[in-house]
Amino acid sequence: MGKTITEKIFAKSSGNPDAAPGENVWLNVDTLMTHDVCGPPTIQIWKREFGEKAKIWDKEKLVIFPDHYIFTADKYANRNVEALRQFAKEHDFKNFYDVGTPRYKGVCHIALAEEGYNRPGTVLFGTDSHTCTSGAFGMFSTGVGNTDAAFILGTGKIWERVPESMKFTFDGELPPYLTAKDLILHILGEITTDGATYRAMEFDGDGVFSLDMYERMTLTNMAIEAGGMSGIIAADKVAEDYVKSRTDKPYEIFRSDDDAVYHSKYRFDASAIEPTVAKPHSPDNRDTARNVAGTRLTKCYIGSCTGGKITDFRFAAKILSGNKVAVPTFVVPASTEVARALEEETLGGKTLRQIFTDAGCEIAQSSCAACLGGPSDTVGRAVDRDVVISTTNRNFPGRMGSKQSEVYLASPLTVAASAVKGVIADPRDFIN
Ligand code: SF4
Repeated sequence: MGKTITEKIFAKSSGNPDAAPGENVWLNVDTLMTHDVCGPPTIQIWKREFGEKAKIWDKEKLVIFPDHYIFTADKYANRNVEALRQFAKEHDFKNFYDVGTPRYKGVCHIALAEEGYNRPGTVLFGTDSHTCTSGAFGMFSTGVGNTDAAFILGTGKIWERVPESMKFTFDGELPPYLTAKDLILHILGEITTDGATYRAMEFDGDGVFSLDMYERMTLTNMAIEAGGMSGIIAADKVAEDYVKSRTDKPYEIFRSDDDAVYHSKYRFDASAIEPTVAKPHSPDNRDTARNVAGTRLTKCYIGSCTGGKITDFRFAAKILSGNKVAVPTFVVPASTEVARALEEETLGGKTLRQIFTDAGCEIAQSSCAACLGGPSDTVGRAVDRDVVISTTNRNFPGRMGSKQSEVYLASPLTVAASAVKGVIADPRDFIN
């Protein structure tokens, strides 16, 4: 019987070639990632359980990105970052991308790719639910709680159940008015927020493989919104070229066998999908941009690990170029590399940054910013009864700040079109 890509990675990492869905195995972790919110409590648990003189199992395999509550006066947020600094100093630990230094990167999931930590066939755990993003590189990646992370920090191992896999195939290339965000919101509408609980969501088809790495990361990023343990896309030449441009460390490519067994399979015609939104207050509350067009907005937001990558800003710039926003619109590059690219890439003779500035957007520093609400001085935060359309990944009550606010999730094209009109708009009004 054939195996899925995820089962093959579990077999390799555990050293158990027969590991099958439902069985538990000890995985050897290739990378452990944490950040300013979960890093300090993880370290605290690690010290409590492994002793004050505990040693990191492998300093090369741990990476810490402060990214969540960064540009704020909030003393508790700043205390967390300071705790990470102390930890890095105490352990002479190098893979720490401290804010206020040239090494600062921004949102962890994008930084993992940019800094070469994402390698096909490897196993990555992170103290963040969107760690599934890295699965776009043909690797197994998932989020863990602080206690599990503390155990990995001390041992490099974790006891995991081999997940069943679900397969989502998109046939045909995407039309110019669609993005990966529309595809994943479409899937969420089909299977709901618990439709993939504890399963690996494998994305396949020429529609998926026509996407660049950043767009693929949008698909895997939101696997957790369906309850998925992970999202995964087999590495192809596009993935290999990206990885080789970021690291010279080894990797191994796995592909699912033709006779691999899946929990379920879904197949979609990419060209038949419409620009899609998730209405308040759940990522599976699917509708089309066309159906909700005209909904009054008070704020637009383009940012986060889902929608703050360079590809997201290329999409947004296509619509914002030569136009003005009708409501406050926030542009938050996910990483400092993305922020630099906004200054370097041009469209119609203007940099993307100039296009956004001329359109009247507010451009913020790279971080998670208002994706997670954050302290009251967080840029772009939803206040009072704000009605927001956002390229982020969650719209539960209070996720972006005020519990009274309403958040629509959409693609960068739909958000940009809506920003120009001041009401939710279909990007096909601008792009055909
Ligand atoms: S950008 Fe949002 S979803 Fe992504 S890691 Fe930060 S808070 Fe989480």
